[in-house]
Parts: sequence; structure tokens; C-alpha cells
Amino acid sequence: MCVDLHTHSIYSDGTATPAEIVDLAAAKKLHAVSLTDHDTVAGVFEAVKQGRETGITVVPGLEVSAVHRTFSLHILGYGIDPTNLKLTNRLGELQDGRRERNRNILDKLQRLGISLTLDEVERFSHCGQTGRPHIAKLLMHKGIVKTMDQAFKNYLGRGKPAWSSRFCYSAAETIDIIHAAGGVAVLAHPGQLDPAMKVQPRLIAELVERGLDGLEIFYPTHTKKMKKRLLELAARYNLLATGGSDYHGANRSGKGLAGGRNPLCPPDSILDSLQQRQLQPVG
Ligand code: AMP
Ligand code: ZN
Ligand code: FE
Ligand code: FE
Repeated sequence: MCVDLHTHSIYSDGTATPAEIVDLAAAKKLHAVSLTDHDTVAGVFEAVKQGRETGITVVPGLEVSAVHRTFSLHILGYGIDPTNLKLTNRLGELQDGRRERNRNILDKLQRLGISLTLDEVERFSHCGQTGRPHIAKLLMHKGIVKTMDQAFKNYLGRGKPAWSSRFCYSAAETIDIIHAAGGVAVLAHPGQLDPAMKVQPRLIAELVERGLDGLEIFYPTHTKKMKKRLLELAARYNLLATGGSDYHGANRSGKGLAGGRNPLCPPDSILDSLQQRQLQPVG
């Protein structure tokens, strides 16, 4: 059986509610699903409740953006307690950083002659956090760009005219925050950091020193070669090998949940490995 341990809901930049994601996972007969919204655990309660009602295992999760040297990384946290105060306080600071960045982006767009208000942007984000994808959607809605991709290429992407950085924790701090909330820390989509896989060996060794528990290996854009190399690195450092679809609903085309017709099928044995890792004292 398959699991899918990487999904986004309306609480970050997906289009499905947490309950809808759990229902989709049940319809696909997945063994387990994890909701991993960006920088927030606000949707986890609804997902866990729906899991109890449908009898599907829901792993409480999140995906935190972090920095390490010059790298911008995503770190997944699994099995976290979503009520942990240290975690929710730290995530609150990330949300503050996002709000400040959104204001900066809107100021920059204003100077480029494009007037958007924060209220308008927030209408596109429904609930939870508001980020660049919501600004991109509003730019599309106003006819300023044709696609989300164009919004990032012309305005919002790194180095583009409305680009603005935001506050992030270091990877080491992020791993500590996840551990303090009882979770397991996994590097998301490591293949994306360098398709040639040149930077990963040193980077992963450094993150292992800082307490990293696993690598996301089963991922839609990872090639066979990447998976092989990542599995070798996971074996070398005794890391978990996790996986998921990075489902964003209608916000990213062509990507359904794992399982069914999707060739992506992270094995359900991951769940046992996750639980065992959670029981190990953090050293
Ligand atoms: P933020 O979290 O506000 O920095 O926005 C980052 C998110 O924007 C990513 O997680 C993606 O979901 C989305 N994103 C980044 N680049 C693109 C793109 N070229 N087209 C559509 N969505 C994108
Ligand atoms: Zn996203
Ligand atoms: Fe990510
Ligand atoms: Fe993601």
C-alpha cells in the first residue's frame, strides 16, 4: 500500500480543505496521509479529525522554509504536536515575517504601477497564511499576467522587480523546533536543490550533524538516478526515506495524490520507520 506524506491545503497554498485531502486519500485507498502546509499547523486539527472519522491514518505535519549557508531549504516535520507552544510561537514569527514581506511586495508592485491591496490578496487566500501564490492569483485575476508562472517570472520570483526576502530560521533551528514539538525532521525534495546532485552530499552531511532524521526520496520530480543517490545517502547516515506528492490541488496541474494511477507510491513501511524514529531520544 502507498502513503502520501506531502500535501498542501487551503491553510497554505493548496485548493482543497484538510478534510477533502483526507477524503481523497481514503478514495485512493492510501494507508496514510500527512498534511504538510507551509509554515503552519492550523489545518492539522481538521485533518486528524477527518482521519478518525474515515479510519485513515493522518500524520500531523508541516513544511518549514529555512536557510542553510546560501541554500533555501524546505524541512518537513512529522508527528509534531500541533499544540506545542514553542512550535506555535515560532510559526507565529514566520507568519509575521510573511505579513511584512507581503506589504513590501505590494509596495514594490505599487511603484511599478500595479495597485493591489492586502484585503484583495487575503480574499484569495481563504484562511491560514497568505503568500506569493495568492498575490500571483490576484495578478492573474486582474489580467496583469496570464499564468502563475508568469507572475513569478515577471514580478515575484527571486531577483525579480517585486521580489522581497522574508524572515526564516536556520535549518538547525528549524530541526530543533520540530524535535521540541516531538516531531521528526526530513529534508523536502532534496533533488530540487541541484539536479546534478553535486551539492547534496555535503549539505546532507551538515544537516545530519544538526539532527536531520530523513530525506524525502519518493517525489514526483525525482529521477531514478536521484532516488538511487539519495537512497545511498540515507543508508550512509541512517536516515528515513519518506515521500509524497506535494499535492496543491488545482494550484499545480497534473499532480494528484500518490497511489491509484499515479506511479508515485511511497511504501507504507515508512510509517513504522517514522514511529520508531519518534521514539528515539533526540541526541
Ligand atoms: P511563498 O511561500 O510565499 O514564498 O511562495 C512559495 C510558493 O509559491 C511555493 O511553495 C510554490 O507553491 C509557489 N510557486 C513558486 N514558484 C512558482 C511558479 N513559478 N509558479 C507557480 N507557483 C509557484
Ligand atoms: Zn506550496
Ligand atoms: Fe517544498
Ligand atoms: Fe510542499
